[in-house]
Amino acid sequence: MQRERILILGGTRDARELAAALIAKGCNVITSLAGVTAKPLLPAGEVRTGGFGGSDGLAGFLRQDRISAVVDASHPFAAQMSRQAVQAAAETGVPILRLERPPWKPEAGDSWTAALSASEAAALLSPGSRALVTIGRKEISMFLTRTDVSGLARMIEPYAGPVPPAWTIILERPPFTLEHECELITQHHISHLVTKNAGGADTSAKLGAARALGLPVIMIERPPKPAVPTYANVGELITAHGAMLLP
Ligand code: NAP
Repeated sequence: MQRERILILGGTRDARELAAALIAKGCNVITSLAGVTAKPLLPAGEVRTGGFGGSDGLAGFLRQDRISAVVDASHPFAAQMSRQAVQAAAETGVPILRLERPPWKPEAGDSWTAALSASEAAALLSPGSRALVTIGRKEISMFLTRTDVSGLARMIEPYAGPVPPAWTIILERPPFTLEHECELITQHHISHLVTKNAGGADTSAKLGAARALGLPVIMIERPPKPAVPTYANVGELITAHGAMLLP
């Protein structure tokens, strides 16, 4: 008889922390990765890779693998995955929780303009701006096609599309230090930071640098996700649902 099994929707540091914590408590855990990163940081325990094939595919997986609970620890911007997870959980009756770090909030000295999408953020850059864009590669073409704007686009995975001469792609994986971010902004004469409100302590060095240098920030707000019980960290989630999750 197979022990009850928890599915973690991963691709984040929070997901790796959760897998490690649950395994340390004797849980049977499988983490799912989308398979979009060439060399992902792997969590402890079993890992599966690749899409499920929509909410129906995920529902089939939940049944076949006898999943007892789903924890959606995917990135705050992975809205499609989160929507499909809620649908599949409803269809199969499997309980679902979400682990999601709180968004960043502006502090004294910050100058943020909110954008609801990457295309809105790209449109907010005035002609002649030099932007540091840290939104990954998926939606970067909206910036690269602005011929009146130049700058740096930072991402983890290489970008396969055309890169106009006014733009430079930087391949780097966080975390970064405040010094590193200040130097990057200063050396490249950056006039605006464009980023997504991912949240989390480690990656906010860029926001600290923008604050220190008086740089305006265009902040892309999180997409909406269906409401499920949501916890800001692993400890809170396990405290609230230990009875359901732990053996
Ligand atoms: P998305 O737009 O919400 O999802 C697109 C499709 O990718 C989903 O429909 C699903 O395919 C598949 N997928 C996504 N996450 C998956 C997972 N954990 N396991 C299996 N399949 C998954 O997702 P995204 O924004 O492209 O993000 C992809 C992955 O990168 C996620 O795991 C996310 O946590 C991570 N990530 C995203 C960002 C970001 O800014 N978006 C940043 C850091 C990490 P099917 O429909 O075939 O099931």
